[in-house]
Amino acid sequence: MPIEFVQSLEVYPSVFQPAGEDNAFKYLESFIAERGMNYSKHISKPAESRKSCTRLSPYISWGNLSVKQAYQALNEAQKISNFKGPIKNAITRLKWHCHFIQKFEVEGNYEFKCINKGYELLAHPKNELFIKAWEEGKTGFPLVDACMRCLITTGWINFRMRAMLISFLCHHLYQDWRQGVHHVARQFLDYEPGIHYPQFQMQAGTTGVNTIRIYNPVKQSSDHDPEGIFIKQWIPELQNIPNSFIHEPHKMSLMEQQLCNIIIGKDYPFPILDATIAGKAARDKIWGHRREILVKQESARILFTHTRN
Ligand SMILES: Cc1cc2nc3c(=O)[nH]c(=O)nc-3n(C[C@H](O)[C@H](O)[C@H](O)COP(=O)(O)OP(=O)(O)OC[C@H]3O[C@@H](n4cnc5c(N)ncnc54)[C@H](O)[C@@H]3O)c2cc1C
Repeated sequence: MPIEFVQSLEVYPSVFQPAGEDNAFKYLESFIAERGMNYSKHISKPAESRKSCTRLSPYISWGNLSVKQAYQALNEAQKISNFKGPIKNAITRLKWHCHFIQKFEVEGNYEFKCINKGYELLAHPKNELFIKAWEEGKTGFPLVDACMRCLITTGWINFRMRAMLISFLCHHLYQDWRQGVHHVARQFLDYEPGIHYPQFQMQAGTTGVNTIRIYNPVKQSSDHDPEGIFIKQWIPELQNIPNSFIHEPHKMSLMEQQLCNIIIGKDYPFPILDATIAGKAARDKIWGHRREILVKQESARILFTHTRN
């Protein structure tokens, strides 16, 4: 075994999920016994989902647990559980796992090219400052920054927050998806190319066949972290901000900022752009582009390739 690899195992961060097969089964059992009770209710919440989701993804990606083992255990549990609905939802997601990997196996180019070739025609001027701010969790949008910083430290965030991070990069910041796809992959403890590239392109809106979701980062924040508990955990600079300003701290007056021991623009950035204007501009461009002949031809090809029986 290469010496660097052995050394890297010795410094396995304690904030990561514990590794290995035994732990995979412990996570599976604790989900079935109790953690899964609030799975469906908490799935989109950045803080609560850490406990309520199965958290099986790293074990499946690293081969500690097979999809078949997880499926069989959940399927049996569903018959006798007090929370059948949430377990059923988790089973559905395991099926998605296989569905996405199948897509990637059919079109391995997903990693490098827009799966809908028509979207290669849409120019995205590169902005190094935007990309750096996004990568480092310094965009001035608290939930976006908290998610990125949490991901960098722990290797995991829930589905909705992954989708929001990609939406913010590709729609609000209007950067080509390839500018962020590897950065995020490097952070994921559960990196699985077969899910990652198709999901990333789906969120970036380059498939031409899926609904394009542009997540408003302020709305996501007030919907899923209303009291800013997750935000404050990952952005210590915002520790003293009252709930009424936690989603948009730049809206505090200078006096309010001083009372909270923070100066926006110095201790924490101003928002990197106006999310409402940027979101609308991106929506118009991406939806408008769906009228291109090549996008339409490619959409038909994608549907035929991936959905016919
Ligand atoms: C841009 C982006 C990139 C992603 N990259 C990865 C990746 O590299 N590896 C990865 O495992 N998942 C990826 N996902 C899917 C999803 O976010 C994770 O599978 C999930 O958050 C893992 O946590 P969990 O095991 O607690 O999931 P649960 O919600 O408990 O789901 C159980 C299992 O179902 C599967 N699953 C759940 N959601 C999805 C989904 N949307 N698509 C496909 N399979 C799913 C996973 O195997 C997961 O372990 C990505 C999602 C997005 C939006």
